[in-house]
Amino acid sequence: MTSSDELLVVGGGIGGLSAALSVAHTGRPVRVLERATEFGEIGAGLQLAPNATRVLDRLGLLERVIDAGVLPDRLVFGDALTGHELTRLEFEDFPRRYGAPYVVLHRSDLLDILVDACRERGVALETGKHVVEIENTTDHVVAHCQDGSRYRGGAAVGADGLRSGTRKMLSDDEPTQSGFVAYRGAIPVQDATRPAELTEVVIWIGPGLHFVQYPLRRGEIYNQVAVFRSPGYAAGRDDWGEPDELDEAFSVTCEHVREAKRSLWRDQHWSMHDREPLDNWLTGRTVLLGDAAHPMLQYLAQGACQAIEDAEVLARCLEQHDSPQWDKALRAYQEERIPRTAEIQRVARVWGDIWHVDGLAAMLRNEVFTQRRHDDHRHIEWLYGGT
Ligand SMILES: Cc1cc2nc3c(=O)[nH]c(=O)nc-3n(C[C@H](O)[C@H](O)[C@H](O)COP(=O)(O)OP(=O)(O)OC[C@H]3O[C@@H](n4cnc5c(N)ncnc54)[C@H](O)[C@@H]3O)c2cc1C
Repeated sequence: MTSSDELLVVGGGIGGLSAALSVAHTGRPVRVLERATEFGEIGAGLQLAPNATRVLDRLGLLERVIDAGVLPDRLVFGDALTGHELTRLEFEDFPRRYGAPYVVLHRSDLLDILVDACRERGVALETGKHVVEIENTTDHVVAHCQDGSRYRGGAAVGADGLRSGTRKMLSDDEPTQSGFVAYRGAIPVQDATRPAELTEVVIWIGPGLHFVQYPLRRGEIYNQVAVFRSPGYAAGRDDWGEPDELDEAFSVTCEHVREAKRSLWRDQHWSMHDREPLDNWLTGRTVLLGDAAHPMLQYLAQGACQAIEDAEVLARCLEQHDSPQWDKALRAYQEERIPRTAEIQRVARVWGDIWHVDGLAAMLRNEVFTQRRHDDHRHIEWLYGGT
């Protein structure tokens, strides 16, 4: 067993590694315990809004992130049924307005950048460490791993994702199943059946479905995601979300979306969950972060961005409340983060509902979207501006 005042981070996803790196920047020793045998992410895309790229900039990583990804010119919303544009958001003046750009990149590229930066900062990175229990004592924590190893630290961060074991120390809640399914596909751009403009993030919205398209890795890879409400889930079937449902759901969409859908991976799919916000993330010297704390539906593209915000706030609170007890710092961290992330969890649900409405509600939504001025930022300033 190690014996130190390290911060133990359980989970080496985007949240855990961002937290480890941010805290290591303050000079504290940090150790990451990751269950998988190597650090890795699913091979799909990720949108990073300026609230996250500002943090990556302060960590000295923005240049690497931009080099690995794409700086799109704009976000475009289209009607998935008619193929008509509904509204757009130009990204050009984001660095002036929000202090950082909007970047899209491959998840594994971001993870590689974070792993390298953690190594450079001296973070101890351990793989194959499945944490099965965190023991809180009055003056330290002990993480017990499935292989029998134990790690002693000053405090622990549970960054172990949607199905967090750490969260079970605080709550017996379960993830909320939305009944929506995602199919993804990140493929060489030349294999994309019908890409949209390579400088755009495009989201086609329609009744009970949407389709996202954007380039990755300097424009070499094309990322697409199709999401739809599963009729099989609603009917209580066990085999819901299969490719026949995908084809049926998207049969009503415009030719562009139908064609583009052909280059999705069909051998795997993901069901979409979130959870109700918690009003406490802290037990003893163990606190939650990222999806373990605030899993959200992906409609605002903010899950990873919020984990990155968490990381920065945690590090700042540890610096500001430097005490051997840790509790002031961890309490200050959750007091700052819970209200903001709870709001985003709630708004993400509503935003998804707005995308997926049908009939008269869709007509009204389209009217509001098409009437919106392209330089109107009222609906995003709270998200992309300060925390
Ligand atoms: C379709 C889709 C699209 C999305 N798009 C975006 C987007 O564009 N922008 C955005 O910001 N967010 C997006 N998100 C959300 C984003 O993917 C997540 O919020 C983010 O990846 C959460 O990171 P995390 O590190 O908290 O959790 P995870 O990525 O789940 O990482 C948890 C880590 O903990 C490890 N672990 C688990 N249990 C243990 C244990 N007991 N011991 C040790 N290790 C353990 C796991 O192996 C894993 O490595 C999207 C989500 C979906 C589903």
